[in-house]
Amino acid sequence: MTIRTRFAPSPTGLLHVGNARAALFNFLFARHHGGEFLLRIEDTDKERSTQKAVDVIFDGLAWMGIEADAEPVFQSARQDRHTEVALELLEKGQAYKCFCTPEELTAMREKAMAEKRPPRYDGTWRDRDPSEAPEGAPYVVRLKAPREGETVIKDLVQGEVRVANAEMDDLILLRSDGTPTYLHAVVVDDHDMEITHVMRGDDHLTNTFRQAMIYRAMGWDLPHFAHLPLIHGPDGAKLSKRHGAQSVVDFREEGYLPEALCNYLLRLGWGHGDAEVLSREEQIKLFDLDGV
Ligand code: GLU
Repeated sequence: MTIRTRFAPSPTGLLHVGNARAALFNFLFARHHGGEFLLRIEDTDKERSTQKAVDVIFDGLAWMGIEADAEPVFQSARQDRHTEVALELLEKGQAYKCFCTPEELTAMREKAMAEKRPPRYDGTWRDRDPSEAPEGAPYVVRLKAPREGETVIKDLVQGEVRVANAEMDDLILLRSDGTPTYLHAVVVDDHDMEITHVMRGDDHLTNTFRQAMIYRAMGWDLPHFAHLPLIHGPDGAKLSKRHGAQSVVDFREEGYLPEALCNYLLRLGWGHGDAEVLSREEQIKLFDLDGV
């Protein structure tokens, strides 16, 4: 089996060093195992995605010497396929149409909070016949998520992580305007791109449980997951603007060399004995997840 990783940034105007590090790890892991590293631009949020933001990503990666092994995939171009999979789930009875109005959803949330329960979708339309809905009423497509048992992820960095299925609700696959949600699109794309290892920041760990449910509903094999600890500032908080430089471009403008930035990002969360400065060749030779 060919090992295949990907970097899947959302083009929001900045190549954050946390993302750049994820890109580097994915790239080195693929190279180390003689596999392939792919790039996917997650540009489904039309309001926030611009060509300029896409160029920032391409430039930053090129500057860091991180090269993809195929043309980049643009998530927005794959919307028909995302829809197709959602409809297939509907057909298989693994998903259903939910006709709840925004008012009903708000009332549901308020009731749950008043009763000190987590504000989850209560499954109103899970087993209801869609013919009971008013004619032409808008609907979303929700996954019929398992309610019993647990979802277990054997994460290559975090170890075994488990969540009771009762803790999760029926996530939305298609919105009422027919557009796919981000959680759904990522699963379909990773599956179709034959990604074997999904390595990303551990702020995505909760998404992984929900995504695992989509894989299972489709009968698809799960990729391996590796959730990387995030980069924090000296105060222990997630790196953000108030800590100063946070994007690859900031460092370039301050005069840092790409080799220095890559070496630093690599050693931030990965190590190999006392090795402090590693050439790209050495990085490829030595990088593996057991050093994370
Ligand atoms: N597009 C997501 C982000 O930029 C990454 C999703 C993923 O790696 O699965 O945070």
